Amino acid sequence: MGSQPDWYARGLGHVWRPYAQMKTEPDPLAIVAAHGSRLVLADGRELVDGIGSWWTACHGYGHPHIREAVERQLQLMPHVMFGGLAHEPALTLARRLVELLGAPFERVFFSDSGSVAVEVAMKMAVQAWLNRGERGRTRLLAFRGGYHGDTFATMAVCDPDEGMHALFAGALPEHPVLDLPRDEATTTALEVFLEAHARELAGIMVEPLVQGAGGMIFHAPEVLRRLRAAADRHGLYLIFDEIFTGFGRTGSMFAFEQAGVRPDIVTLGKGLTGGTLPLAATVASAEVAAAFWSDDPGHALMHGPTYMANPLGCAAANASLDLFETEPRLDQVRAIARQLEAGLSICRGRPGVCDVRVKGAIGVVELERPPDLVALKARFAEAGVWIRPFGRTIYLTPAFTISPDDLSALTRAIDQVACQLAR
Ligand SMILES: *Cc1c(COP(=O)(O)O)cnc(C)c1O
Repeated sequence: MGSQPDWYARGLGHVWRPYAQMKTEPDPLAIVAAHGSRLVLADGRELVDGIGSWWTACHGYGHPHIREAVERQLQLMPHVMFGGLAHEPALTLARRLVELLGAPFERVFFSDSGSVAVEVAMKMAVQAWLNRGERGRTRLLAFRGGYHGDTFATMAVCDPDEGMHALFAGALPEHPVLDLPRDEATTTALEVFLEAHARELAGIMVEPLVQGAGGMIFHAPEVLRRLRAAADRHGLYLIFDEIFTGFGRTGSMFAFEQAGVRPDIVTLGKGLTGGTLPLAATVASAEVAAAFWSDDPGHALMHGPTYMANPLGCAAANASLDLFETEPRLDQVRAIARQLEAGLSICRGRPGVCDVRVKGAIGVVELERPPDLVALKARFAEAGVWIRPFGRTIYLTPAFTISPDDLSALTRAIDQVACQLAR
């Protein structure tokens, strides 16, 4: 490891680290720079990045087109309040997102994190009913395995274990959580539940095709068609949380395209700025937006984050959308999918491995038992790769611009390190 820089030794005890028992977990790696698919550590080593900084960095780190757009915006105006003021980066981005998403989307609410975007979607769904004069529809139907954020409102629609519903009982709002309608039994259970409780619901919330942080669990497009049909039958708003799946990760620009159904509200974040600045969005259909369009000030959506529509973030997002138009991102995702399939398939059937699955630029090797995560992380770093499993789930969500050689280094490390340790 070598000696740590002075800033590290003096500062580490003063930062709260994410999702960490800081007393027992290994210390984080000191990092000083990132470029392309590489992380540069303070001791000079470079790691091949398999995670893309929680799957945000779809164009790799430091893409010059995004950097130049942000630098230009920094000179003009890094930030102004969005209340009473409108600026080009936000209005252009809103128009481009609506064009990209297609009908029935109309209006974009910008926020600064995915969790807030999901909270805004929940507030929109609940208040749209109130504005339409119907009270008592205060709940969202959510699904096991889901992840929608870490704030109280979003924890309440996460998987009950992941969202720690038992531990935080009393502090969290209560929403029903069912199994996704994957088969006849779960589809019937959904229908039985809706027959009894649809009138208490404002809408249905789901991550389309891939439940990401809840364990990289995939489902068939058919599941989304069943949810759309159920929402239509009961007059409920359907909310797709595309914060993980949006911007090409599953092989299409948005996951819902693969199911041929559209939600009423969609949330975007993570890859929105290509992993450069914190920005998220909640996009409402024309019908949802119409429920707020009124002469009654009480029908307004009362929400407005301080850094709403931050011009730097919007400039980065516009530049990221340019790259999806000018560089072959979806072709790159298809090539990554083929290489992940080839590179990870040798783990299939290895002792201790219970599943290997690939969807777009997402590769997953699931172990039967949780590995020794401390040993695993250390061996990955020794192998020159940055891979950060969740429990039994070892996954890759690399930049779409990763080279075939770097991607091979990642799949090889999973086979040689994780599959060996799992035996
Ligand atoms: C990451 C994520 C969120 C939360 O986003 P933050 O920016 O971390 O608040 C919500 N939904 C999904 C599907 C996510 O992957």
